[in-house]
Amino acid sequence: MDHRFDMPLASLQDARKRYGAIAALDGVDLELRGGQVLALLGANGAGKTTAISLLLGLVEPDAGQVRLFGRDPRELAARQGVGVMLQSGAIVETLTVAELLDLTRSYYPDPRSVEDCAAIAGLDGLLKRRYGALSGGQQRRVQFALAICGRPRLLFLDEPTTGLDIEARQGLWRGLRELVAAGTSVLLTTHYLEEAEALADRVVVLAGGRVVADGSLDEVRARVDQRRIRCRTTLDAAEVARWPQVRAANRDGGRLEVVADAAEDVVRRLLAADPALSGLDVSRAGLAEAFLEITRDAPLKEAA
Ligand code: ATP
Repeated sequence: MDHRFDMPLASLQDARKRYGAIAALDGVDLELRGGQVLALLGANGAGKTTAISLLLGLVEPDAGQVRLFGRDPRELAARQGVGVMLQSGAIVETLTVAELLDLTRSYYPDPRSVEDCAAIAGLDGLLKRRYGALSGGQQRRVQFALAICGRPRLLFLDEPTTGLDIEARQGLWRGLRELVAAGTSVLLTTHYLEEAEALADRVVVLAGGRVVADGSLDEVRARVDQRRIRCRTTLDAAEVARWPQVRAANRDGGRLEVVADAAEDVVRRLLAADPALSGLDVSRAGLAEAFLEITRDAPLKEAA
């Protein structure tokens, strides 16, 4: 067995990073393997950018281990295999798109041709334009082209399609799929759940600097399909928690809150077990609500 294929391309082990009283990352484990597209999801301030900054060696962890291609990410040899599109990047505004591409390509031993970069990133008609004079969405596409021009094995994309219109977003997804089909691995952060659905085969959800969900898209979606049943009853939460299809049952004063894989059987059994049960409410989480549900109970990250 070839152990190179076992080694994650990028990983965090129990990574911790504080900014004053804020725990931006509070013990995060993360692994990205070859051929994967991993979407890092989370609300504003969840720690996504910090996680990427650690993996790129831009920020040092207070504790824990960070590896990029099995190395310290600050080593040049590790960073050479990586393409990066961050939220804030210093790009010389007076250069044209073609000049920027040429300059960035010159850092790599075997860069993609300008034509290929332009085709993948959708830069038709933009090559001779000055970067500073482009629209925000056009600049985002140029940043994508710069990220891929060195033929990276691993791409880090921090909210790559924020500010893009639907057509441009889908264009970037198409370009990304081409690269993935050709063997590029991707770690992307996004606020768009449909972006994760369109591209990712694995999803990690961060909240308050911690991982609150990590699995295949289907596994995380399965949590989305769960139902939340609320009612007023005297039934014992611990007992209900042992019923089939019940994931969790918790008491909040006189109310019982049950998370179940499917509602019908559990509701029937609740009504049979407590004929006095009242205030029944069953909610079905949509994708967005489910994401909120996964992240809602995350601990506050402000230190005491
Ligand atoms: P967003 O979706 O808004 O980009 P994010 O998930 O990428 O958010 P981070 O940028 O990683 O979140 O920030 C995590 C937390 O750490 C936030 O509370 C943020 O304010 C804080 N933080 C990040 N960088 C710094 C810094 N350089 N100095 C102080 N606090 C910081």
